[in-house]
Amino acid sequence: MSDSEYNIVDLLKESNRLHALSALNVLDTAPEPYYDKITRLVSLKFDAPVALVSLVDKDRLFFKSAYGTKAVEVDRANTFCSVAITKHGVLVVPDALQDDRFLQCPVVCNAPYARFYAGAPIILSSGICIGTVCFIFPEPYYDFSKNDQIFLEGMADMAASHFDLRLSRDLVDPMNLLPMASVAVSVINDLAYIKEHSISAYSIELFGSTRISELLVVLGEHKIFTLLQAERLIIEKILPNNNSYMFSLGVDRFLCIVGGLSRDQSFILADRMEVALSKVIDLESTPIINVSKIGLAYSDNMDVQPGGLIRMAIAGMGSPRKNFASSTLYSEEGENNIKRRLSIIHDFPGSFKEGNFSIQYQPKINLKNNKVAGAEALIRWDHKTLGRISPDEFIPLIEDTSFIYQLSEWSIKQVTNDLDAWEKQDIHLNISINMSAKNFQKDTWVETLKKNNALLDKANNICFELTETAAFSNIQAVSETIDQLNRIGIKTHIDDFGTGHCTLTYISQLNVSAIKLDQQFVMPMVNSPKDKMIVEHTCHLAKALGFELIAEGVETEAIKDILKEFGVDYVQGFLYSKAMNVDDFNHWIKNYNM
Ligand code: C2E
Ligand code: MG
Ligand code: MG
Repeated sequence: MSDSEYNIVDLLKESNRLHALSALNVLDTAPEPYYDKITRLVSLKFDAPVALVSLVDKDRLFFKSAYGTKAVEVDRANTFCSVAITKHGVLVVPDALQDDRFLQCPVVCNAPYARFYAGAPIILSSGICIGTVCFIFPEPYYDFSKNDQIFLEGMADMAASHFDLRLSRDLVDPMNLLPMASVAVSVINDLAYIKEHSISAYSIELFGSTRISELLVVLGEHKIFTLLQAERLIIEKILPNNNSYMFSLGVDRFLCIVGGLSRDQSFILADRMEVALSKVIDLESTPIINVSKIGLAYSDNMDVQPGGLIRMAIAGMGSPRKNFASSTLYSEEGENNIKRRLSIIHDFPGSFKEGNFSIQYQPKINLKNNKVAGAEALIRWDHKTLGRISPDEFIPLIEDTSFIYQLSEWSIKQVTNDLDAWEKQDIHLNISINMSAKNFQKDTWVETLKKNNALLDKANNICFELTETAAFSNIQAVSETIDQLNRIGIKTHIDDFGTGHCTLTYISQLNVSAIKLDQQFVMPMVNSPKDKMIVEHTCHLAKALGFELIAEGVETEAIKDILKEFGVDYVQGFLYSKAMNVDDFNHWIKNYNM
């Protein structure tokens, strides 16, 4: 082996060593009784004034335990420990003053003027040496026996086992107590290559990141911990006794690996998981309903790539956000959904700059006089390759990015321009614009709006729609924003009412002016007495609380008549028209008013 090759091997070894040390998360941590006991024992055994558990970092020695000195770290250069970690066995330096390597060593030149050193390497189970258990002595010492070395090595082994434990602790998710999914790779390899089993990989999401964060806030960490244990047990009970393993993919996400199932059996198991997880859990008197999604990937091909299989299982869960309680079983479709979602987010800024967005208007009719009161502005995206993408699909994705602010600003600009044009034609309309929860939660938003003179000028003709779920998400911030908007003359309506968890009494804490009943209750009213009753009850209560009432999804005369009877003020729906571009809308109004 040439010199340069040797150096590269050494460099790699050192880099792995530093990586392993950093993965331990032990540098710069406080002393711990376990390591302190080791240094105390070493000091007692050899009557040593200083004993250390010394970890060799890139440029320094960090002392996890230091008996007999207050030092926490020293420079690594010229130290005994930096040599000790490169040796097999214990490094014994009987008299440092007789050893050229250590003449510059700080503890030799300065107090405590060490003459003797003995250090045993701390070697992790991975074979990587991270430091030493060592001691120094102020006098030369030539009688350090084989038994003494064995004792010191034993102490270093004990330290190493404890550091190893630390590593395996970090491989367990502290919330659900399952091993991390990274461990699954070797399990899949064992099952597929050694046992020659088929592999079924299930990815299970119990609540979703938004809901789990809400639950954490409402129920607290302790209850969530209990809840996750309960959910884990539910799954464990269903899994076959042999060749089944569970891992953590995140707080409320599990990965199950099962070996040896037929394709049909693996689908049956997914169904059983779904049924079991859909049961209500009584958590210390709080009923919890989860909205789990399950993704399944199956392979009976011995060439299985563990990482790819896990990724496919996760991709199998990919279903539209509004689609609750759905388990999407393994499909390429799931993976394609993810790809589509990613490309929607990725393409947004470019497409936005290219001007591929437009606003359409859906008329809103006043039921008292049957006149057009205004319209709802609905955004449209005509994507170059994907065609028209529904706002229901792209808004939730864009809402996770800061692009949503640009989009809201743009919608406001389009609407104020159109209002200007209508005003010039003596057409007076009230336009509602859908706004994201993100806007309502941003405390500087209304300040920015105040600088928009075109908007302030049209404030009385504009209202913002905020979905019920969004209003629920951060009540304090949302409520303040609504008040600020009222002060500049812009009213807020609650959109999609009935789809979230809010009651009207809860909404009544917000200074909103109108409630918009969701189409999902309005549309089935004719055939469903239950839905009709819900709408009737909601209408009466909303009126009693002083809200104006709007209903969307009005497709038939029959529904319009019922809504009128219930006291609804405004209606919107295909009975009148779908959303139209501004020219068609202008045309439509002229015809409607004739
Ligand atoms: P939304 O605000 O509840 O809008 C009503 C949706 O119902 C619209 O879908 C509308 O075209 C549709 N609709 C109206 N009448 C009927 C009917 O009689 N029958 C049926 N089947 N559907 C009807 P659209 O335009 O696809 O918008 C979907 C959602 O996307 C909107 O729901 C709104 O939440 C969001 N959205 C649309 N434009 C914007 C926007 O500019 N900004 C934001 N943040 N969200 C927007
Ligand atoms: Mg709306
Ligand atoms: Mg709506």
